[in-house]
Amino acid sequence: MAQLEGRLISIRGIVQGVGFRPWVYRLAHQAGIRGGVRNDSTGVSIEAFGTSTDLAHFVRQLEKTPPPAAAIAELSWEAIPAQERSAFEIEQSQAGNEHRVSIPADLATCESCLEEIFDPTNRRYRYAFTNCTDCGPRFTIVREVPYDRPATTMAVFDMCPRCQAEYDDPSNRRFHAQPNACPDCGPQLRLLNAHGSEVPTKDPVATTARALRDGHIAAIKGLGGFHLACDATSSPAVSLLRRRKRRDAKPFAVMVRNLEAAEALAILSDGERELLRSVERPIVLAPLRDSTPLAPEVAPGISLVGLILPYTPLHHLLLADTGQPLVMTSANLSEEPIAYRNGEALERLRGIADLFLLHDREIETRCEDSVARVVGQAPMLIRRSRGYVPRPLRLRRPLSAPILACGAHLKNTFCIAFRDQAFLGPHIGDLETLEAVDAFRAAVDRMERFLGVKPEIVAHDLHPEYQSTIYARSRSEVTKVAVQHHHAHVASAMAEYGLEGNVLGVAFDGTGYGGDGTAWGGEILLARGAEFERLATLRPIALPGGDLAIREIWRLALALLDDAFGQDAAAIDLPLFRGLSDHQVEIVRTMIHSGLHTPMAHGAGRYFDATAALVLGRASARYEGQAALEWNLAAAPDEQGVYPYEIDDALSPWQIDLRPMTRAIVEDLAAALPAASISARFHNTIVAASEAVVRAAIRQVGRVPIVLTGGCFQNPILAAGLRERLESEFEVFLPSRVPPGDGGISLGQVLVADSQARS
Ligand code: ZN
Ligand code: ZN
Ligand code: FE
Repeated sequence: MAQLEGRLISIRGIVQGVGFRPWVYRLAHQAGIRGGVRNDSTGVSIEAFGTSTDLAHFVRQLEKTPPPAAAIAELSWEAIPAQERSAFEIEQSQAGNEHRVSIPADLATCESCLEEIFDPTNRRYRYAFTNCTDCGPRFTIVREVPYDRPATTMAVFDMCPRCQAEYDDPSNRRFHAQPNACPDCGPQLRLLNAHGSEVPTKDPVATTARALRDGHIAAIKGLGGFHLACDATSSPAVSLLRRRKRRDAKPFAVMVRNLEAAEALAILSDGERELLRSVERPIVLAPLRDSTPLAPEVAPGISLVGLILPYTPLHHLLLADTGQPLVMTSANLSEEPIAYRNGEALERLRGIADLFLLHDREIETRCEDSVARVVGQAPMLIRRSRGYVPRPLRLRRPLSAPILACGAHLKNTFCIAFRDQAFLGPHIGDLETLEAVDAFRAAVDRMERFLGVKPEIVAHDLHPEYQSTIYARSRSEVTKVAVQHHHAHVASAMAEYGLEGNVLGVAFDGTGYGGDGTAWGGEILLARGAEFERLATLRPIALPGGDLAIREIWRLALALLDDAFGQDAAAIDLPLFRGLSDHQVEIVRTMIHSGLHTPMAHGAGRYFDATAALVLGRASARYEGQAALEWNLAAAPDEQGVYPYEIDDALSPWQIDLRPMTRAIVEDLAAALPAASISARFHNTIVAASEAVVRAAIRQVGRVPIVLTGGCFQNPILAAGLRERLESEFEVFLPSRVPPGDGGISLGQVLVADSQARS
C-alpha cells in the first residue's frame, strides 16, 4: 500500500461565501482524500491526507475547477506529518477566527439552479428565489456580520425540513447557503396594480409577462433595487416609459434571455461575451446590429446598447415568459438613488409603473447594476457596483492606518481601506439631492459596521463645496486629507496596478476642482506619493454660464471659435447657430469677452462637447456625456488624417493648444467633409497631441510608468489609440477593475492619503 502523506494547503482569493468549502469537500471525496477544510483569516485552509498520487491529483483539481463565483489568487501547500483520519470534514470556523470581511458579492443564478427552476418535476420549479452556495443574493441582504442567515433579511423565513436538510448536509449544493429557500418556506411574489391594490393571479410572473407584451410598464423588485421594465422592441412602450420617467434620451439598458438573444441585437466580441456571462453580470456596452429589432427609442441616436443577462431566477422566468428583450432601467427619477423598499417604490414610482412585481425578501443595501465595456480588447468597468461590491481590491502594501475616502461629487463611490485591502462601496450616483446624500451616509455607516473598522484618516476631494467634502469635514476623525481630483484619478490606477514611485498620469475628464480658480481636466501629471506636479494641461476654454454651458454645448462651441478665430469668429456661419437667436449668441459672446459668469476649464471633455456641437450641429446635450458619446461613435474607422496642434512649452505647465485644430475643422466643415471624417481626425489629433506631450514629459522626468485615466478614457478610440502609440516603448496602464471615471476616485484618495500619512 502506498505511503500516507499530509499536506497543508492554503488558498487565498475570493473563497469565502461562494460555495468553496462544499466544493472542496466533494473533490476530496472523489479523490479519496481525508482531512478537513475551514475558513481562516486569509481565505481557506485544507488539511489533506492521502497517497502522494491522490494528493497531487486533488491539488490539480483544486486549481483547475473552482466554483463559478470563486477566484483563486494564490494556492500554496506544505508537507505536514501524516495523520489517520476517518473522513473529510468541513470544520466550523470559530467565531472571530473567520475574517470579518467575508461578505461576498451578489452572485448571478448558477446553471444548476437554472435547471431546477425550468424543470416541472423539481420542487423549485418556477420558484423565483432559488439559490445555492454558488449563487444568489449576498451583499444586498446582509444586515450584520458575520454573514450568516440570522444576520440577513432571510432571517424572517424559517427553513422547512427539506431546506434545512439541504442546508445541514455537507455533500449538498445548498450546504450553508444562507439564503436557501423553496416555495414552501421562502419569499413569495406579489403583483400590485398602479394604485397599489393586489392583482389576483396564481402566477405573478406570467401575468407580468403578459402585461409587458401588451406594452405596459412594470416595476420589478430585483436584487439591489427596483427596475422599470417594458418591451424593448416596442416603440410605443419605450416612448411611454421615457415620458413617464422624464428621461428623454439617456440610453436604457436591455435585458436579454441569453447570449444568443444578445447576439441578435448587438455585435459581440469574445471579451463582451465573457463579461456578459460573468457571475458579476454587469451591463455590457456593445455595438448595435444594423438589423436590430430593438426600438430606436432604447438608445436614441447612438449605435451602442447596454445589454445584460438575467441574474436572478425572477429575471430568468420573466424573460422566458415574455419572449422579448426587456428594457431594465433603474427605478428612479433622473439621478436619484434607485428605489429599493416596497413602500418607497409604490410611492416614488406612482404614475410611472402600471404594475408592481414585488416580493417579501427585503433588500438591505441598494446596489445598482454595474456597467462594463471592452476597451482595446480588455474589460473596463465603467460603474463598479452590484456583483463586485464588497469584494476588496488588494493593495500593494499595507496602509499605515484605516482610511475612509469620500470620493467625488458625480458618480460617487466611497472607499474604506485597511491593512492591504480596499473596499469600494456601491455606486451612489450624483450627490445632487438630499436623498443621494442620505444614501451616501447610510452606505458609509453600513460598510464601516460590516468591516468592523474605525477609520483614522478621512480623505476627500479638494473641492470645498462638494457634499462628499462637507461630509468628510463633519467627521470626528482628526486627520483629514484633501486630494486634488486628477491626482486621485491617477492614484486610483496606481492602486489598481500596484504602482509606486513616480508615475506619469494622463487624466482627461470633464471637470475637476483645480484649486487655482479654474476647472482642470486635460492634465498630464507626475504623481509621486502624496505630491504631484502638473507638467502639462489643455489650453482652457471658456464656460459661458458655468454649468449651463455643459448642457447648452453651443455655448462651448462659441467659446471654441472665439478662442481660435478672435475677431473673425463672428463671421463664421454654421448650421449650429441657425436655430439660435442673434440676441442669445450676442449675450454669450459678451460673457466670453467680459468673463462674467464664465469660468475657464481645461477639461478634455469640454473639447469633445464643443467640437461635437460644432460639427454635428447639436446645440444641447440631454444627458451628461451625450455629445461626447455621439461624437466618438461618429468617427470613421479608416480615416488617418490628423489636424495641426501646438504644444506651448514656454508656459508652466505646458499647454496643449488645439486652436489650429479648430481652424482646420471649420475649413473641413466649409468643404463639406463628412462628420465621420472630421470626428476621426479630431480623435487622431487628441491621440497625437497627447502622445507628443507624454514623450516630451518623459524626456523631462525620465522613463516612468504611464497611466491613462479619467472619464474620457472610456472612449475606446482615445484609450486604445493612445495606448497603442505608447506601449511599444513604455509601460502603459488603463484602468480595468476600477472605473477610470469619478467612480474610481475614492480608491485614489486612499492611496494619496496614505502617502501623506507616511511622509
Ligand atoms: Zn445556484
Ligand atoms: Zn423550504
Ligand atoms: Fe473626473
